[in-house]
Amino acid sequence: MTTQSPLFSFEFYPPKTEEGAENLHLVHSKLAQLNPDFFSVTFGAGGSTRDKTFDTVVGIQAKGIAAAPHLSCVASTKDNIRQILKDYQDHGIARIVALRGDIPSGMMSAGEFRYANELVDFIRQETGDYFQIHVAAYPEVHPQASNASEDFKNFKRKVDAGANAAITQYFYNAEAYFYFQDNCAKHGIDIPIVPGIMPITQYAQLFRFSEMCGADIPRWMRKRLESFGDDRDSVQAFGLDLVSKLCQRLLDNGAPGLHFYTMNQSAPTLAILDNISH
Ligand code: FAD
Repeated sequence: MTTQSPLFSFEFYPPKTEEGAENLHLVHSKLAQLNPDFFSVTFGAGGSTRDKTFDTVVGIQAKGIAAAPHLSCVASTKDNIRQILKDYQDHGIARIVALRGDIPSGMMSAGEFRYANELVDFIRQETGDYFQIHVAAYPEVHPQASNASEDFKNFKRKVDAGANAAITQYFYNAEAYFYFQDNCAKHGIDIPIVPGIMPITQYAQLFRFSEMCGADIPRWMRKRLESFGDDRDSVQAFGLDLVSKLCQRLLDNGAPGLHFYTMNQSAPTLAILDNISH
């Protein structure tokens, strides 16, 4: 049972258009009222959003609540990571979500860092303890891992390199998270492992995305979602009930907080947080 108040964080992607930027401004102001621990901003595959991620992070930080850029190894060199770290330090940004990223199809080389543990190590070498570093964790196992125990060893490498906290890939099987937590305790890993939460608002995209990132949609859940067909209201009502219960169970059983993949929408996240006691 957790005794401290849970930490909440909200993830955005950098908007591509002016309309997207206006929407994000509104979404941010609604979610900011919950006074989250921080907002994070994703980094496009292969570094494609580098400038947009930077501008979005700096804009959010200037509004008063901490912002954390995601930073990925793919297509990055030591020189450009060094420069980005300096730029973030100059703007008072003190948290980073450090990732490997995925190699976009057609791109041949991964860059100078092969795995996220090497990026964490580099950030520590260059900037000491300045940054609070978050890394990714996979309670349902990373889709490219040779097996679960190798994947866990690789997760531990990131912790040993100096990660302060982890955010999980989203999942709908709470047991996978509890096993992961137990495994961390057995291996002396005591950093917060914050569940990543994906609200359910429609299902075609959720199925596609889950296929790619290795998140399991249990059969009963898939069948229920499919049965709603084009009835979006029923999909959303079912999704809200299911994800709210998941969040409540996670918090009641020791999760230190929740990180929401908001998809730049405020309503689904607000509805879930309204449903749970925290
Ligand atoms: P790693 O920890 O490097 O692991 C990748 C794979 O390599 C795993 O299978 C692991 O077992 C294996 N491995 C790790 N280290 C070693 C090693 N030393 N030797 C051998 N094998 C090893 N992607 C983006 O492009 N942009 C984002 O903004 C973004 N944000 C994300 C946020 C969160 C919270 C999460 C969970 C994921 C995010 N992703 C993002 C997706 C992420 O980049 C992919 O899941 C990617 O495939 C793995 O990244 P990682 O940092 O977990 O990699």
